Amino acid sequence: MSMVMARESAYSIAQKQFDRAADVVDLDPDLRRVLREVKRELTVHFPVQMDNGDIEMLTGYRVQHNITRGPAKGGLRFHPDVTLDEVKALAMWMTWKCAVVGLPYGGAKGGIVCDPKSMSLSEQQNMVRRFATEISILVGPESDIPAPDVGSNAQMMAWFMDTISMHKGYSVPATVTGKPLAVGGSEGREEATGRGVAFSVIEALDHLGLSGPDSTAVVQGFGNVGSVSARLLAQEAGLTVIAVSDSRAAIHNGHGLDLEEVQGYKHRQGTLEGCPGAEQISEAELLALDCTVLVPAALEGVVDGANANDIKARIIAEGANGPLTPDADDILAERGVLVVPDILANAGGVTVSYFEWVQDLQEFFWEESEINARLRHIMSRAFHEVIQVVEERKVTMRTAAYVLAIDKVAQATAVRGIYP
Ligand code: NAD
Repeated sequence: MSMVMARESAYSIAQKQFDRAADVVDLDPDLRRVLREVKRELTVHFPVQMDNGDIEMLTGYRVQHNITRGPAKGGLRFHPDVTLDEVKALAMWMTWKCAVVGLPYGGAKGGIVCDPKSMSLSEQQNMVRRFATEISILVGPESDIPAPDVGSNAQMMAWFMDTISMHKGYSVPATVTGKPLAVGGSEGREEATGRGVAFSVIEALDHLGLSGPDSTAVVQGFGNVGSVSARLLAQEAGLTVIAVSDSRAAIHNGHGLDLEEVQGYKHRQGTLEGCPGAEQISEAELLALDCTVLVPAALEGVVDGANANDIKARIIAEGANGPLTPDADDILAERGVLVVPDILANAGGVTVSYFEWVQDLQEFFWEESEINARLRHIMSRAFHEVIQVVEERKVTMRTAAYVLAIDKVAQATAVRGIYP
């Protein structure tokens, strides 16, 4: 199933979310016109040598939404459904995400229309190296720093870093984050997004007075973000995780899943399909399960006007970027579901990417305990700042997070002025 097909354009959703918050703060119309558009969009078509000797032409993108507060930052998505529209939305969300947690970055995103799962390691390497070369006119530690997203991983970031370093003639680790530790990666980066999701869930449970042993969680998507979120929701937030899913199957056990077993099965089989100790359910049933916390951690647009009324969770923490449409937001707000928006809930990844970049630039590396403590501090501070705006302005957490973020970017834009 393609989750992106026939849905509202991701970029139009991103612009709608922006407009809602811009209305709340009565944003200056000139600034609104500037911030509602992306700054740069680069499209590249490039050849990749396949193992059978054939050449395949692939298409990729790198988009920078805004770089007023610092270098552009954002992941690389390698997936068959990637479009320029989606990359533009993801780039804009990165701007707000960096601003809401207070990182000195602007927003960017990249992607290649491809299916990395069907490619060998050498084909993946050829693709990443050529793509790095094609977008090298934008990237660098001072200008634009990519990272992993759906379909990309630490090994690919190492190839990316190596390619840029080869062009320079010396190693430039800070050119990309999410790298393996051996080449300047950071302790805790691999788990950072899921850890940040767990921190925001702990804050949200606390805020609603729902912390306790009876609380349950459901996680959609069992990749980097979903699998770590599920494990830490159990280990650190003390929740019983009753269902998880990947692109092929959703599994449920009302008494709680044994996540170590599930992870091991997924690792061995490459899918959750047929996982013992759980019943198979449909994706629609998973989203509609009775639970305290739902973490959509796959792709965008999975909860919309059509299924938002089926949701029974009290809290939704958006592990993925853009999993709820504005129609879904309206319905869920009406029903009193607390939605911790993506630009806050999943900001742990870019926060520890920032730590990685800082460590690379200083060539001085920190312990994991220090990284996790700093992450927790930043997530908790941002959560409480957002809740304060919710209470002052009587808006949803999403709009409140946008209000904070837009205010920071608008102030930076205003004081810098328009060039020339
Ligand atoms: P990933 O490729 O590691 O995992 C994606 C998971 O989603 C896989 O398990 C896949 O099987 C599953 N999936 C795909 N289609 C699905 C479907 N129809 N139903 C259920 N599951 C489905 O990617 P990731 O890095 O975990 O990213 C997931 C989301 O989190 C994306 O929206 C991404 O933009 C966002 N995100 C990632 C990071 C990061 O640091 N990796 C940071 C912030 C946000």
